[in-house]
Amino acid sequence: MTDPVLSVEGICKAFGALEASRNIDIDLRSGEIHALIGPNGAGKSTLISQIAGALQPDSGRVVFGGQDVTAMSTAARSRLGMARTFQISSLAMEYTVLQNVVLGALGARGDVFRFFRPVMKDRALLERASLALQKVGLEEFRAFRTSELSHGQRRQLEVAVALTLEPKAFLMDEPMAGLGAEGSQRLMGFLDGLRHQTPILLIEHDMDAVFALADRISVLVYGEIIATGSVDDIRNNPLVRSAYLGEEADA
Ligand code: ADP
Ligand code: MG
Repeated sequence: MTDPVLSVEGICKAFGALEASRNIDIDLRSGEIHALIGPNGAGKSTLISQIAGALQPDSGRVVFGGQDVTAMSTAARSRLGMARTFQISSLAMEYTVLQNVVLGALGARGDVFRFFRPVMKDRALLERASLALQKVGLEEFRAFRTSELSHGQRRQLEVAVALTLEPKAFLMDEPMAGLGAEGSQRLMGFLDGLRHQTPILLIEHDMDAVFALADRISVLVYGEIIATGSVDDIRNNPLVRSAYLGEEADA
């Protein structure tokens, strides 16, 4: 088997007396959706923040693309191809769909607005942006204002922005949150295809979505991974059933 794209090795993180990450090992392989599930407050978002570099672990390391990135900034990790999506606020609502992707492709969104006109004439850049829109199925909305898109489409647009940077892994924290049933279905179909291009570490509350999509599932409870396995492994794991799926252990 090839080496994982991303691996977390023995990560520990405490907030005062609270151990939010207890010696966590988890990895992401190419072509897969690895879902991370667990009750509220289990430490899922804290783990993603440490992988992305927004939060420093107390101990342990993060290896990405064969490189120890534990001491790197979020910006350095994203330049290496780590994409954390679904921070909707990073889209400029008053700009068009295409403009958002172009801005994203430039990376340094802040100071680029000044040079916006010439940038929109840069053919290579426009082509890269159009290709990303095609990949997420938003090509026909390229001239729409971003504010006109549905929630689900904005999430796809976030992915398009990330795709222009040719990511090697996606970190997604509850992408279905706030989407209706139809939006969730559509986004699931989209993630289903996306994994073949870029593997996804997916935090998701919607268990139907997780069971339908995941190649592997890890279960986090009180900062600890209590099980990792296939959908069937996790469904049938008695520890998981009592600790997380809320079922009484069979007498
Ligand atoms: P999840 O995403 O699984 O719901 P979180 O990772 O957000 O859980 O939180 C795990 C635990 O760590 C929670 O008890 C939360 O209150 C606590 N926590 C998260 N971030 C901080 C922080 N910056 N300072 C103190 N406690 C925190
Ligand atoms: Mg969370």
